[in-house]
Amino acid sequence: MSKTHKQTETDTQLSASIMKHRLKGIMILDLAGKIKVVNEAFSKITGYSDEEVLGKMPTFLYSGRQGEHFYKKMWHQLSVDGEWQGEIWNRRKNGTIYPEWISISGIPSEAGEIIHFVAIFSDITERKLSEERLVYLAHHDILTDLPNHRLLKERLIQSIKQAERKQQKLAILSIDLDHFKEVNEAFGRTVGDELLITIASRLKSTVRDSDTISRLSGDTFAILLAESSEIEHTATIAQKILHLLSTPITLDGHRPIIITGSIGVSLYPEDGTDSKSLFTHAEQAMTRVKNQGRNGYKFYSEEIGARSLERIELKMAIRRALERDEFELYYQPKLDLKTGEVTGLESLIRWRHPKKGLILPADFIPMAEETNLIIPIGEWGLRVACEQSRRWRDKGLPPLRIAVNFSARQFQQENLVENVCTVLQETNLEPAALELEITESIAMDQVDKGIKTMNKLNALGVRLAIDDFGIGYSSLGYLRQFPVHTLKVDQSFVKNLPQNKDDAAITAAIIAMGHNLNLEVIAEGVETKSELTFLQAHDCDGVQGFYFSQPLPAEQLETFLKRGTYKNLLKK
Ligand code: C2E
Ligand code: MG
Ligand code: MG
Repeated sequence: MSKTHKQTETDTQLSASIMKHRLKGIMILDLAGKIKVVNEAFSKITGYSDEEVLGKMPTFLYSGRQGEHFYKKMWHQLSVDGEWQGEIWNRRKNGTIYPEWISISGIPSEAGEIIHFVAIFSDITERKLSEERLVYLAHHDILTDLPNHRLLKERLIQSIKQAERKQQKLAILSIDLDHFKEVNEAFGRTVGDELLITIASRLKSTVRDSDTISRLSGDTFAILLAESSEIEHTATIAQKILHLLSTPITLDGHRPIIITGSIGVSLYPEDGTDSKSLFTHAEQAMTRVKNQGRNGYKFYSEEIGARSLERIELKMAIRRALERDEFELYYQPKLDLKTGEVTGLESLIRWRHPKKGLILPADFIPMAEETNLIIPIGEWGLRVACEQSRRWRDKGLPPLRIAVNFSARQFQQENLVENVCTVLQETNLEPAALELEITESIAMDQVDKGIKTMNKLNALGVRLAIDDFGIGYSSLGYLRQFPVHTLKVDQSFVKNLPQNKDDAAITAAIIAMGHNLNLEVIAEGVETKSELTFLQAHDCDGVQGFYFSQPLPAEQLETFLKRGTYKNLLKK
């Protein structure tokens, strides 16, 4: 049955009024997907006039955010159900992309077959923004704009997973402002709010971007230090926060206000491995600070707290020692076992502490390595050893090779070879007058890079020795590739010679192996005649140890050198 004239007229009016819709964009496509009609709202949203789009496929609207697969699925559903709706990101004529909600339906002919598609869409940018805003508000504190408790917890859970995977540490600091209630009462809430905003921005300046500062409630904050590698780093931040907090805050029209804080710290994994226990323990530590007079910080574990304080102090003291020139070099002779001649000197660092007296390297080198202060200390040591060697030569003393110990960190330095070159030039020493003692671990750490550096030093003419040989894990296969001249047998093997059969066997094996590889073998830590006899019997090349001489300050060593050889001590 065909439509009456009246009905067709109504249809036309109806579609005309639909097409006039001011908010919803409308386009009608033919079966081939070409645009037949668009309305004004279409042009308003997309920026294209109808002349620009009629007869074209709407692909010019694609933003690239949806892949081919997406459109395939959409057309499939349209062909099956005759309808599709969803969210699509499209591109306007001016290039910007925007989200739209679109519903597409097939329009059937009178015979019931689909002959057109009508797509009705609205720009939902605004709605999206307010959704995002809602998500933001759900995760942030409105006053300070800091992440709130919920976001902090989410991040903590993520960080714990990451720390677990990467075997890292992390820390939670629970911060409570001291007597903030009284400030609020005295100055009013508006001032209180402004104070909190200022404090929030001060807190932000203390941490890295990867860390999270959160306002939990009224005057309590918390900080998540993700990837916190060292306990001291955490302690330093706690100190920094206390310092920043106690710096007076001046708000318009008010006298300066001083706020202090109490901080409790818990550490992953030491104090807990889940978010709840980390929060609780940080809070408990904070409560301890409150009970003990406020304005301070405490680690949940007292033991960690004490240790970290000690380490912070040591770190600062080492830095000061460098500035105040408190380091000295001592020198210990190395002897040729056959001739009894001194063949070289090993420089060994000492720290002359103004209060504690002489400190041995074992008590500060590890910390210097951890903090990278070993780099300036090492450069200082290399220079001073070379300068001293030059001075002795200028005085006419025999030109002895000077040995300098190098830590792994120094050995990884990019400009190491250049530095060595410069120091040698400036002290006018030939490269062969310098020997660098490195440990097995240096050589084994990043083997290829290590070998490259060794080759460069070797090409320069500098001698290389492997120190403390035998206690590390060097693969003997690699040893062949190292361009070293000397192996120094670790003193732990020498100490018990010849009574300890294992040590005796190891020492004898190292000497034999060294000789097979054409290396000179030196035994360190020789203290007794019996040790010496064993080494002589096994044809060791050189010795060093208290039996001959302690490490000595430069002047004392000079007197010692003038005495000549040690042939008497070597008599069998
Ligand atoms: P090292 O290079 O293996 O030095 C040998 C250590 O053994 C020195 O200890 C030396 O004083 C000690 N020693 C020498 N003969 C004997 C002996 O007969 N008996 C005993 N029991 N000990 C003896 P020191 O001076 O305390 O140095 C310890 C370590 O610190 C050194 O081991 C070295 O690894 C490191 N070190 C020393 N000076 C420096 C430096 O300037 N830079 C770097 N990176 N490390 C250094
Ligand atoms: Mg050494
Ligand atoms: Mg050694």
